[in-house]
Amino acid sequence: MSLHVVVIGAGIVGAATALETLREGFRVTILDPGDPGGEQAASYGNGCWLSPMSVIPPAGPGLWKKVPQFLADPLGPLAIRWSYLPRVLPWLARYLWAGWTEAKVEAAARALRPLLVDAPALHRTLAEEAGVAHLIERRGLLYTYESRAQFETEAMAWRIRRKVGIEWLELDADEMRQREPDLDRRYTFGALVEEGGHCRDPGALVAALISQAQSMGADVQRVAASGFRIEGGRLCAVLAGPREILADRAIICAGAHSKSLAAAAGSRVPLETERGYHAMVAGAEAGPRTPMMPYDGKMSVTWTNHGLRCAGQVEIAGLEAAPNWKRAEILRDHLLRSFPGLPRDLPPERVKFWMGHRPSMPDGLPCLGPAKASADVICAFGHGHVGLVAGPRTARLVAALLAGRPPEIDIRPFRPSRF
Ligand SMILES: Cc1cc2nc3c(=O)[nH]c(=O)nc-3n(C[C@H](O)[C@H](O)[C@H](O)COP(=O)(O)OP(=O)(O)OC[C@H]3O[C@@H](n4cnc5c(N)ncnc54)[C@H](O)[C@@H]3O)c2cc1C
Repeated sequence: MSLHVVVIGAGIVGAATALETLREGFRVTILDPGDPGGEQAASYGNGCWLSPMSVIPPAGPGLWKKVPQFLADPLGPLAIRWSYLPRVLPWLARYLWAGWTEAKVEAAARALRPLLVDAPALHRTLAEEAGVAHLIERRGLLYTYESRAQFETEAMAWRIRRKVGIEWLELDADEMRQREPDLDRRYTFGALVEEGGHCRDPGALVAALISQAQSMGADVQRVAASGFRIEGGRLCAVLAGPREILADRAIICAGAHSKSLAAAAGSRVPLETERGYHAMVAGAEAGPRTPMMPYDGKMSVTWTNHGLRCAGQVEIAGLEAAPNWKRAEILRDHLLRSFPGLPRDLPPERVKFWMGHRPSMPDGLPCLGPAKASADVICAFGHGHVGLVAGPRTARLVAALLAGRPPEIDIRPFRPSRF
């Protein structure tokens, strides 16, 4: 009998992991109380970017000076709710410390780059096998600025990107106008990263990967895992409320909801949610030719199969607080300012808002490796801003751990015990 692996969570990480685990010859059960690729998952509503250059962790040198602003402006691109501050303080301190110096940021970038490199090709392969190759496109990813001087305010990030092997083309005002005729003329400088790709419907991609896993024999159960029965350091069962599901191995891929599960397997990790939003315009009259990120909006703008999606914002307010839809309105309004061809009076029925939870570790690196109480339980969560792009490689790394092979990249920076 082959070993039984229970994959907890069916977002992009769980879906890709289930497939790689099946390929290793294991018997697989997938648990998720929600629909695979459904709106409850970050994997549904993200910015769709497959961005191998997203190696810069969210916090950088000097960010601490802006903390009062994060607390004072509930609608700023990064906001912390006052009521949540006491709970998030330890995480926040680690988050600021992780980006304290350029050397720390560079170390994180060096750890992340191998996890993200080749992501569009890895996604394409998975999508092809699941019959949805059309969901993955590679047209590059474009950062737009009002001037070269504005681009240079991010010099440290681009310097580090270059050091870790990322290349880009710089576009002047003329080239920008030719490439992006719908874009507002205030953007006169661009940095085009040609190795980047995007997904036209991340929710549909996840659903297709789970269907593929089912066709390869995976059992999908709509239940939430609640803990583990571990005896003598060996996993006996995954607990799902009153039920026990006998298991030889378990993989925790429950995104922002993974913290209590990791604790149940002995690993206390500082996982937080960085809540984010999207606004999606159906039948948009204007938009980018290449998925883009306007500097002043701190948002990604990408065509999807359901409309023009703009995604971004970071709100630290925990898993329970109600969404603040004003933040999604800010994204929509910025989209209108970036693409003057969009009608000013968009009827509400053409705009859909969504809020979701980035599973974020304070150092911007995921948790990937065995849990403390049992090596039979593997952590694979905490990908923060890069979970979509990192999903397929994460899955290959988990499969290697399960099979007892050395992983294809160095995963020591991601060990759950690093805190
Ligand atoms: C606004 C926004 C924009 C983003 N843009 C990008 C981007 O452009 N590119 C990129 O790479 N990343 C992006 N991200 C981040 C990315 O979406 C996430 O890192 C990624 O989706 C995390 O995937 P996951 O599978 O770990 O978690 P999720 O997709 O959240 O899936 C977790 C699953 O676990 C299930 N679950 C929860 N609790 C349990 C339980 N107890 N038992 C069983 N199942 C459970 C949930 O129902 C869910 O289906 C963005 C995120 C946001 C919010």
